[in-house]
Amino acid sequence: MSAADHGVQAFVGIGANLGDPEAQVRESFGRLAQALPNTRLTGRSRLFRNPPMGPQDQPDYVNAVARLHTRLEPLDLLAGLQAIECACGRERDGTRWGPRLLDLDLLLFGDQSLDLPGLRVPHAGIAERDFVILPLLELAPGLQIPGMGPLELLAQRFDGASLIPIAEPEASVSAAEGGG
Ligand code: ADP
Ligand code: MG
Repeated sequence: MSAADHGVQAFVGIGANLGDPEAQVRESFGRLAQALPNTRLTGRSRLFRNPPMGPQDQPDYVNAVARLHTRLEPLDLLAGLQAIECACGRERDGTRWGPRLLDLDLLLFGDQSLDLPGLRVPHAGIAERDFVILPLLELAPGLQIPGMGPLELLAQRFDGASLIPIAEPEASVSAAEGGG
């Protein structure tokens, strides 16, 4: 398989704050790996707990970033992400930054800048969001953000104080305990 067959590197911002947000974010990695045609999941950041943007009378968010390699066109990838949101029970009631079971945003699509009806890439507001920039930095420290410059430079504006890393589930420990 040639390098071109691996397609374009794209990044997806994942967020949830209803139900069991941590479980939904973990599950969404699985869905990103399984449910999108011509697409592979090639990286995942840690999960972070994070206070909500916008309305404050909603639970904390859990956020993460996924890296994909895809041969889909950008709008087809967005449609696939929205189908996963729907499969995870998200209701679109029109409230921006409102509570949600699962939010999947297409952050970056290769080195492309797109301003299409229903799709803007890089995702609007990416540079202001520590819960996007810092997980992205874990996955791709050398990244250039189209129109905005080096990711490492953007990340310098954030101390990450409000992002609390969530420990990985200790599968081996609990399995050992369960077996004992
Ligand atoms: P938000 O994520 O800002 O809280 P939504 O997830 O409800 O809001 O998305 C609102 C709309 O944003 C979607 O209908 C979608 O078409 C549009 N949109 C524009 N650019 C993007 C992008 N890069 N990723 C995801 N959605 C986008
Ligand atoms: Mg969204």
